[in-house]
Amino acid sequence: MHISKSPALLRSLTRKNLTWDITDRPGEIFLTFDDGPVPEITPRVIEILKQFNARATFFCVGDNVAKYPEVHQLLLDAGHSTGNHTFHHLNGWKKTLEEYLADIKKCNQLVSSKLFRPPYGRIRPSFIKYISNDYRIVMWSVLTGDYDKTLTPAQVLKNATENTTDGSIVVFHDSQKAAANLFYALPEFLEHFTLKGYRFSVIPEK
Ligand SMILES: [Zn+2]
Repeated sequence: MHISKSPALLRSLTRKNLTWDITDRPGEIFLTFDDGPVPEITPRVIEILKQFNARATFFCVGDNVAKYPEVHQLLLDAGHSTGNHTFHHLNGWKKTLEEYLADIKKCNQLVSSKLFRPPYGRIRPSFIKYISNDYRIVMWSVLTGDYDKTLTPAQVLKNATENTTDGSIVVFHDSQKAAANLFYALPEFLEHFTLKGYRFSVIPEK
């Protein structure tokens, strides 16, 4: 089963240090794109967002920013925000604190941001306090499942639209793996919520 909403218990236990949604911004939706930037996907996402006057937050893998600095710059030039997603897309359950913090720092040399999202959403509770000293740790309220090849584009769109509401943080991926679902669902999603009067904003750093 695909779980599109983050678990309520985990959210309430960690609300102080992790951001799951932006509750004080009615009428706004916070789109996020993970794992880019890549030249095959990210510029197309920028074009789609532009058609709807939408801004979004891109959690970038440092290694991709190192390979494609011009694509990272395109994001900033278009008014989007970028956040830290570690340099090597590390699994936080498999690394020591020292290894994990060093990889975040390496990403930070290329991505100047106070926003951090742990890859796979995996972060050890004991790491949280060290990271939240320097970053707003951004989780999500809606996982579209765009990367999941067992889901059809229509299912991804349905997941995304049915679970999104005021202040939702929604996860898409600007990656090759997600492309088929992403490029179907994203414009439909933007149109759906634009017609309802929503705006699409970047996640504030505080
Ligand atoms: Zn990721």
